[in-house]
Amino acid sequence: MKNLLASYFTIFCTTLTFTFSEVSAAGNRNTAKKYMISAANPYAVKSGLEILREGGSAADAAIAAQMILTLVEPQSSGIGGGAFLLHYQPQKLSTHKDPTVQAYDGRETAPTSVRPNLFIDKDGKKISWHRRKAGGKGVGVPGLLKMLELVHINHGKLPWKRLFLPAIRLANQGFPVSSRLHTLIKSDKHLKNFPKSRSYFYLEGGKPLPVGYKLKNKILSNTLHLIAEKGAKAFYSGPIARDIVSAIKNTHHLPAEMAITDLTNYRAKLRKVIRSTYRQWQIYGMPPPTSGGVAVAQILTMLERFDLTRIPARSVQSVHLISEASKIAFADRNFYLADPDFINVPVDGLLDRTYLSNRSKLISPLKALGKVRPGIPISYVAPNQSADLGDNRPVSTTHISVVDGEGNAVSMTSSIGTAFGSRLMVRGFMLNDELTDFAAIPSANGNQKANRAYAGKRPRSSMAPTIITNKQGRLVMVIGSPGGSSIIGYVAKTIIAALDWRMNIQDSIAHPNFVNKNHKTELEKGTYLENFALKLQRLGHKIKIKTKNSGLHGIRVHIRGYEGGADPRREGLAIGD
Ligand code: GLU
Repeated sequence: MKNLLASYFTIFCTTLTFTFSEVSAAGNRNTAKKYMISAANPYAVKSGLEILREGGSAADAAIAAQMILTLVEPQSSGIGGGAFLLHYQPQKLSTHKDPTVQAYDGRETAPTSVRPNLFIDKDGKKISWHRRKAGGKGVGVPGLLKMLELVHINHGKLPWKRLFLPAIRLANQGFPVSSRLHTLIKSDKHLKNFPKSRSYFYLEGGKPLPVGYKLKNKILSNTLHLIAEKGAKAFYSGPIARDIVSAIKNTHHLPAEMAITDLTNYRAKLRKVIRSTYRQWQIYGMPPPTSGGVAVAQILTMLERFDLTRIPARSVQSVHLISEASKIAFADRNFYLADPDFINVPVDGLLDRTYLSNRSKLISPLKALGKVRPGIPISYVAPNQSADLGDNRPVSTTHISVVDGEGNAVSMTSSIGTAFGSRLMVRGFMLNDELTDFAAIPSANGNQKANRAYAGKRPRSSMAPTIITNKQGRLVMVIGSPGGSSIIGYVAKTIIAALDWRMNIQDSIAHPNFVNKNHKTELEKGTYLENFALKLQRLGHKIKIKTKNSGLHGIRVHIRGYEGGADPRREGLAIGD
């Protein structure tokens, strides 16, 4: 094994010593015959491609790419955070016991010390969004590594250790700070107040690292080396775990308690995938604790009665209908969705076709609905519960789509919460602030919120990694995005653009974003959608024009191979052979 790894290392050194411009240039090739990967950063994509070229599986490539993202996109995701991952296996390879699509939950959990009043201060007031997103209180027990280890056990082909080499190497060599990373460092109000982050992300005089600055991260390289050698347990116990606990306890800003046992007890979960149909396609989505899969499925099912193929993509009517379906889905999301291990989430009822057909009847082509109330799924007694919209500020998170040489696919959305997560840096990586996805105020009008904080609970997410097949179970598309709760709108729009409007995957991704979260219809700033504002207002929409910064990364299957798309709003690309 040692020799094998030594030779892997040599291969890696010779194949992965590329410059940033070489990597970026590869972005022009977005079709492939054998395998493909699409992600938010060229180095991550390139490392995934190397793994695929070696015969690695989609799971292997996603792991290698994710380790690179921990390094080069520290604002978005990493080993200090969590993720949701769908794995598709073509039927010819899958056994009866194994479903074709599996759903892996690596969402952060609340430490045992957490109580529903997590974000209420000693005067009984809500800690402001700005304050609570940084520091110790928002940090959940990271789930990414345990989840990836489970995925690797089930679907890995190359040794675990091999998958860490690209990131270890790049952390030692250094990588150029990208424009997005620079901008986010510059605009962050908290980062410089945390000593370890300050010395890593700023020059000595306190200026943010400039674009192109060669940034090394030897401490992360050592951390990854340890995890590569010993597996995920090297993270969840021993010195790394102790440092995580100590960083959360000893920070100047909202210190909190996480026990070592919170880390050692963390379990990634294999959940029952959400399967719905949309016209002739099968849509596979991630179940709770994310709301993403249920909401996307609801939107699509409610829209089935409208023939979107005949309603132009670039029309007020299509924006109106999709926004209305989104509004209704968000009414249910805000009320019902939470961690199913703590709350009875009526997933089957919410996806029931009769229920959704009745909900869809609320949509009028001629007039916008006001605020929609949550529905009552069939055979379900609605609890005395309050809705919670949540505070989702979409600047971080990342999505990776991969298809390997055997036709397996991975759709993974990975996050550390807001940009740079808690801003707490431990051993070269950022700790998440994902507990801020819990309802900050646990009850309203005497009714508890489904998504209130609780020890051991996973906060509601909006991440929506999605896999689409045809009726026969053959892969059609892999897609997902960051973007806070707008993820739901981004993913639904891209699916409709690709399937109904028959756009290629790149155009589907680039198509202007819009979403309604049961309030205003948000239209992407700087796009032709701005010209629709008046007509939408006449239909009764309240309009908000704003930046809608998706990070959609997807792969579409064609008879002759694969076509990849990478969101022009971010820095990634799609490549393959
Ligand atoms: N905390 C967010 C969620 O889980 C991460 C997604 C994002 O903001 O892009 O929904």
